[in-house]
Amino acid sequence: MRFDLAVVGGGVVGASVARAARGLSVALIAADRPADRERSQRYDARIYALSPGNVAFLRSIKAWDLIPADRLTPVHSMRVFGDAPDTCIEFDAYRAGASELAWIVEDSALQAALWTAMSAQDGLELIVPGQCDSLEVGGSASLGLSSGRQIEAGLVIGADGADSFVRTAAGIHAAGKLYSQTAVVANFKCAKPHGHTAFQWFQRGAVLALLPLPGDRVSMVWSVSDDESTRLTEMGGEQLADAVTAASAGVLGTLEPESRAQGYSLRTVTASRLVAPHVALVGDAAHVIHPLAGQGLNLGLQDARSLAAVILQREKVRGVGDLRVLRRYERSRSEAILAMRTGVDSLHQLFGSANPVVGRMRNLALNLTNRMPVIKNLLLRHAAR
Ligand SMILES: Cc1cc2nc3c(=O)[nH]c(=O)nc-3n(C[C@H](O)[C@H](O)[C@H](O)COP(=O)(O)OP(=O)(O)OC[C@H]3O[C@@H](n4cnc5c(N)ncnc54)[C@H](O)[C@@H]3O)c2cc1C
Repeated sequence: MRFDLAVVGGGVVGASVARAARGLSVALIAADRPADRERSQRYDARIYALSPGNVAFLRSIKAWDLIPADRLTPVHSMRVFGDAPDTCIEFDAYRAGASELAWIVEDSALQAALWTAMSAQDGLELIVPGQCDSLEVGGSASLGLSSGRQIEAGLVIGADGADSFVRTAAGIHAAGKLYSQTAVVANFKCAKPHGHTAFQWFQRGAVLALLPLPGDRVSMVWSVSDDESTRLTEMGGEQLADAVTAASAGVLGTLEPESRAQGYSLRTVTASRLVAPHVALVGDAAHVIHPLAGQGLNLGLQDARSLAAVILQREKVRGVGDLRVLRRYERSRSEAILAMRTGVDSLHQLFGSANPVVGRMRNLALNLTNRMPVIKNLLLRHAAR
């Protein structure tokens, strides 16, 4: 059977691009289906801070409003601390004329909403469990699945994450580096109200973030050296909560554990191209960045948005896999991806440097920027996309 699009990977980005391509015939090949979640009281420790622009996109593809409102948390302000006393930059939605800076959503809630939306989509076939093990490109693309099934499509979209099979099979080179850091994530109850504020501390290489969850809960992302992550994940919950309370200078009072800690090894991946004939890459298949700015999925959702728009707006004489069409997608994304990758990497290096001069400069820069409302508004406008 021939489809317009075959999307490989059923994570948030793959599901979003499949939803955004409404009106086309789509096969979505996913290794598994997100567990049909019973409403649980426990909060998922994998959470995302999503930009207002991406929330609007998720709403437009009829997924956002399927997430129960009591699992969503708006972020009204943000406080980022440097690694010297009294260094801080603050962002405030009200002062920037916005209703919120970002929304915090659990991974499981977002995936469940996307899959519910996809299950009712005309022209979409969900192939689950599905594993691709060959890709051939000629006048169209032909995907071979491990079940023996062959799928023909005008365009194969690689949304299959950092170790993308599609990227490798299409001969697209990817460069990468390991940060020798692991992000430890866990949820806590906090004694003081978070006030819908996201907190972040740069700690000479390590970065601690506490993001607001519904009620008096916060979600932690603590990027630390691999050795330190082993120490943190092997601690008991109470001991970890005490360590985070101390590292966050008690801004939210005493923390209590609400989930087990999990670690995610950190690295970068940069694909040399986003497209090849009949192939396009989106999300982590195209770029993986450090989570210190909480922008990886935001970039991936922008890819999904942009690719779907380019395909749906193409001239009728051109096929979906026409390289001239796909290059429009690549051009539309290159600058934003490069800027984000460079910005995040520079911040990581700047705050990881042990040089005392660099140390003084970075904290000075943080305080100076805090006094420049124009620059702060520019940064916020960029992050809102
Ligand atoms: C600790 C941490 C915190 C983060 N916080 C944020 C944040 O606050 N905001 C933000 O924007 N980003 C954040 N990120 C980044 C974000 O998690 C990723 O960018 C995002 O999950 C990538 O989504 P994806 O759908 O592209 O890839 P993935 O989530 O990796 O999904 C890929 C899918 O493809 C499937 N797959 C793989 N190979 C095949 C195959 N051959 N056949 C079929 N299916 C296949 C996999 O099973 C998987 O389901 C964070 C990352 C980390 C590590």
